[in-house]
Amino acid sequence: MVKVACCWDDGVVNDIRLIALLRKYKAKATFNLNPGSMPEHTAVPRWRKLDEPVWSYNGFINGKVGLSEMKEIYEDFQVASHGWLHKGGSAPVDEFFKDAMDARKYLEDVFQRECRGYAWPCGDYTPQAAKRLQDAGFLYARTTQYTDDVGVTDAPMHLNASCHHMDRLFCDKFRAAKAKNGIFYFWGHSYEMLDCDGLWNQLEQKLAMLAEDPEVQWIDVIDIVK
Ligand SMILES: [Zn+2]
Repeated sequence: MVKVACCWDDGVVNDIRLIALLRKYKAKATFNLNPGSMPEHTAVPRWRKLDEPVWSYNGFINGKVGLSEMKEIYEDFQVASHGWLHKGGSAPVDEFFKDAMDARKYLEDVFQRECRGYAWPCGDYTPQAAKRLQDAGFLYARTTQYTDDVGVTDAPMHLNASCHHMDRLFCDKFRAAKAKNGIFYFWGHSYEMLDCDGLWNQLEQKLAMLAEDPEVQWIDVIDIVK
């Protein structure tokens, strides 16, 4: 057997298309959200004008899911704090902690369930920040680092994944985890697929491969540390 988990950051509009794929292949997932930077209504994705001074991913401005649609969109999946405004562990520790907790409280209120997971914004981990999270009852905090032994060697506040979803060794890492009856855990941002069918197709091939494998058991990220 191999346990498989995945998570996706930032609550972007492409999550809606991603969720349709996850449902099709009966995959579980956790979405790491920043409610403080989500608009009231879901944004309309678009491409950046060449001289437009705005953040984009390879020119694509995906935009965020709206607060008013958040519950309906993510209801059947896990949600976790990714900071109210995406503040990293190197921010002043009280400011960091408030950011992490505000997102958690908001999500717990909207979804009416415990949200005890966290993902470090930009992988910005510090030991002091980690201690504050742990003391407040967070069960894990995901980094942007990688390990071949998910959940075995990691401290839960420094939870490393197996790889990014676009890692060229994705399938090799999956097979390696399976060979040791371990956990395969990948993550990413759905905006990385842009509005490009070829990139979406690559992800779908991976989900199909996992769905066809009788040894795969999907778990939630929080199950890694439970
Ligand atoms: Zn992020």
